[in-house]
Amino acid sequence: MRLVLLGAPGSGKGTQAKILQSLLGWVQISTGDLLRAAVKAETPLGVKAKAAMDAGELVSDEIVLGLMEEKIGETKGGFILDGFPRNIAQAEALEKMLEAIDKPLDEAVLMDVDFDVLLKRLTGRRSCKDCGSLYNIYFSPTEKEDVCDNCGGELMHRKDDNEETIGNRLNVYRDQTSPLIDFYKERNKLTKVDAVGELEDVTKRMMEALRVSDLDD
Ligand code: AMP
Repeated sequence: MRLVLLGAPGSGKGTQAKILQSLLGWVQISTGDLLRAAVKAETPLGVKAKAAMDAGELVSDEIVLGLMEEKIGETKGGFILDGFPRNIAQAEALEKMLEAIDKPLDEAVLMDVDFDVLLKRLTGRRSCKDCGSLYNIYFSPTEKEDVCDNCGGELMHRKDDNEETIGNRLNVYRDQTSPLIDFYKERNKLTKVDAVGELEDVTKRMMEALRVSDLDD
């Protein structure tokens, strides 16, 4: 299946995309992860993207579309777009990109989460510097503070998960990304899922909404 995950920052797109990837084999393509890797490696693209990311603004469409074109082109089988598209221009470009390779999108899943929960998820979010495992100090803490349960690595707080940047990212979502809900509704591709609760329950709801079992491809 070819999916877009829609939802505010903190709605669990990355977490659920990773789970679906491991259960179903669909490849997670996260623009946020790709951009953070480019920033870390100080590539020319990363250097250009850094200021917008630190401020919680969107990186330019030109940069993001270039990245996605390459990534989608090299992906075989199903995929889950996590964090892309983020505005109408990107959604239109994606539609054209997929039409050109005759692989239209199957569905856009809207991950629905209340504002209060979003804030806690964002301020409490931590990830392992070494293996990338995700935790939350409120909802899914590690056994030992700041130490990854999986590999013993040190935990880090994403630079854009501070309160000021979070406010900005939520405004960007409201103003630029949430219009995509109607965009996909008009195309009969929108599926809304309650994304609050235990991880496994959310995954189950997503799979039910998508009418797949973990044996399907
Ligand atoms: P995320 O990990 O999806 O929350 O993305 C982190 C940051 O990367 C965002 O706040 C943006 O600055 C940038 N970013 C990620 N995806 C996109 C996109 N599709 N378009 C523009 N900027 C993006």
